[in-house]
Amino acid sequence: MPVRMKQLEPFDLIVFGGTGDLAHRKLLPALYYRELDGQLHDNARIIAVSRRDLSDDEYREWARKSVASQVNGLCDLAMQRFMERITYVSLNVDENTGWENLEQVLAGREDITRAFYLSVSPKFFGPICSAIGEHGLVTEETRVTIEKPIGHDGESAHAVNETIGSVFKEHQIFRIDHYLGKETVQNLMALRFANVLFEPLWNSAHIDHVQITVAETLGVESRAGYYDTAGALRDMVQNHLLQLLCLVAMEPPESMEADSVRDEKLKVLKALVPMDEDRVNRNTVRGQYRAGASAGGAVGGYLEEVGNPHSMTETFVAAKVEIANWRWAGVPFYMRTGKRLASRLSEIVIQFKDLPHSIFLEEAGQIAANQLIIRLQPDEGVKMQLMIKDPGPGGMRLRKVPLDMSFAEAFKVRNVDAYERLIIDMIRGNQTLFMRRDEVEAAWKWVDPILEHWANDKEPPKGYTSGTWGPSASIALIERDGRTWHEE
Ligand code: NAP
Repeated sequence: MPVRMKQLEPFDLIVFGGTGDLAHRKLLPALYYRELDGQLHDNARIIAVSRRDLSDDEYREWARKSVASQVNGLCDLAMQRFMERITYVSLNVDENTGWENLEQVLAGREDITRAFYLSVSPKFFGPICSAIGEHGLVTEETRVTIEKPIGHDGESAHAVNETIGSVFKEHQIFRIDHYLGKETVQNLMALRFANVLFEPLWNSAHIDHVQITVAETLGVESRAGYYDTAGALRDMVQNHLLQLLCLVAMEPPESMEADSVRDEKLKVLKALVPMDEDRVNRNTVRGQYRAGASAGGAVGGYLEEVGNPHSMTETFVAAKVEIANWRWAGVPFYMRTGKRLASRLSEIVIQFKDLPHSIFLEEAGQIAANQLIIRLQPDEGVKMQLMIKDPGPGGMRLRKVPLDMSFAEAFKVRNVDAYERLIIDMIRGNQTLFMRRDEVEAAWKWVDPILEHWANDKEPPKGYTSGTWGPSASIALIERDGRTWHEE
């Protein structure tokens, strides 16, 4: 086990939705890797829950295949240990049956950490929490993790939070935004608060604007049913993009304690300039993909894929966001996210201001303003665009060069999935990388008026060809301010 990886105390992790897609692709592989690193105590158990009638061995076989399909080079020994700690419980939330099976499995283990993970449709969050309470399964050391989405607007999010809050205390509730578990997102905090270099410049005196892009090449795939009722604003902006914005914009927290960090993020959300009708019209763009080419092949349009020719659901959002506080007054944050875009790319670009005065002759060439680019995917890393002198004899010629640090190349370590970190943090009870109730509700408060205005707007989302960077209106949104989206 690597020196700095501390073993966890004994725990029971109960995964509702143990046979679902998230468990298959993310949770089980993440737990296997923690097993491989020796981080799981001998007395730690994983209890998968779903409706299917499966024996422990049948589920273990399913889990083994899941891990094998996602992990290269399995270790037989680790896999055997991993299998031995898995138990399966059949339980039907709709019919409220099978709870006695879970009670039985958990009995006698009240003194150790009990972590419920709700990897199920959000409509089950309330009923599962209530039943956990009714069956007396909440112990001193119990926690519950819920997946997104938390509600589909402010009101429904409030209702979900109320139900969960009637069973669990806030310090027991872990609302996942897996973006917060990404290495680079945490590195954003390290960059800002473990270096003296950036913080003095991190304000409106030196930063011209910030861009946040989360671009996917995939379409809705198998999630058409869910997606058509959600759209990009709910699915991506309300959580992931606003969380990224908070981490860029927040004041230095007092410490890395969960509430210190979350207090500062909340202040940013509260300082977002509200989106009245005029701002929604001027500062947001919603788009929907049409047929085109993606990843080298021809693809159909959104309307055909979801089988709803009248759908007004957006698959693309661009927005200019303003923050009304001393640090950021006059510094726009441009956000864009969408499906079927030109490439899979998530990045934050901090665009510094132009030099106040150049001492160089015109022949030296143009001086580009500095940029700090934080890449979340595909290749996580940090890049700083600097101006240098072009090497060699002759006159002074200036050139833009990146100081480029790809994490994969710099550290030669396996890229740890966000879920590995988040599951461990949750079992340990560390909420720093999870969203607090007031954050979620403050984010909805900013998003709700946009949803409302769009719902009243008869004009459909602007079409864009699959494989492009979204509707031309998105380009116009930023170019109107004399700026351009970062593309390389
Ligand atoms: P999924 O593939 O549809 O799985 C749902 C799970 O719920 C299955 O294990 C299903 O098992 C179980 N289930 C359904 N009805 C049940 C009932 N009445 N009683 C007990 N169990 C029941 O969903 P998913 O994609 O894994 O998503 C799970 C959660 O994660 C959702 O909140 C989703 O929004 C969120 N999420 C998923 C992803 C992703 O990539 N998949 C990403 C981000 C967030 P049986 O059919 O065997 O009962």
